[in-house]
Amino acid sequence: MIGMVAWAIIRYPFQRRTAKIAVTRSMGGVGDKVLLILAVAGQFLIPMFYVISGFPAVADYAFRPVQAYLGVAAILMALVMFRLTHKQLGNNWSITLEIRQGHRFVTDGVYRYMRHPMYTSFFLLAAGQALLIQNWVAGPVGLVSIAALVLGRISREEKLMIDAFGDEYRAYMRRAKRIVPWLI
Ligand code: SAH
Repeated sequence: MIGMVAWAIIRYPFQRRTAKIAVTRSMGGVGDKVLLILAVAGQFLIPMFYVISGFPAVADYAFRPVQAYLGVAAILMALVMFRLTHKQLGNNWSITLEIRQGHRFVTDGVYRYMRHPMYTSFFLLAAGQALLIQNWVAGPVGLVSIAALVLGRISREEKLMIDAFGDEYRAYMRRAKRIVPWLI
């Protein structure tokens, strides 16, 4: 829960700031909004509901300290990465897929090693949650919904970036992987 609050605090100023900047190109659409709603449900609403109600208790399993330590470590890494990506994307960030007025193509900082480090932070947060919540449904549901969001939008996002930045983005695709540096 502390992780969720920290997440919202990190994002809030960027949401306010970018709301004022005009969008020049968009590839969000209804599909992306549906995926976002599913991600919020899987990552926040269902786990919160479980924490408050204890449902579905049949899927509970025993507490293992090592799992909890790993979970806290994953959430801390997620928050650091989430903050870094917001700082580096700055006014170019959007909750959906958009190119804004004066959009700058960012390839420095963590973007040097991955094309989608913010999605890496989503996966880290979801993995932390899966480790911390000892329930076979409420634990991993965030991982499933984040995987759906990222798989559902990543190719369209890259097409949008190629439309906007052309060969510069194509060259970037050759030097940086998507989610895990040097791997995927
Ligand atoms: N996929 C990125 C960014 C997520 S925010 C990440 O995981 O870090 C989504 C917005 O970021 C999209 O509107 C897209 O246009 C923009 N974006 C993605 N990569 C970018 C980059 N390298 N530089 C600038 N904007 C980028």
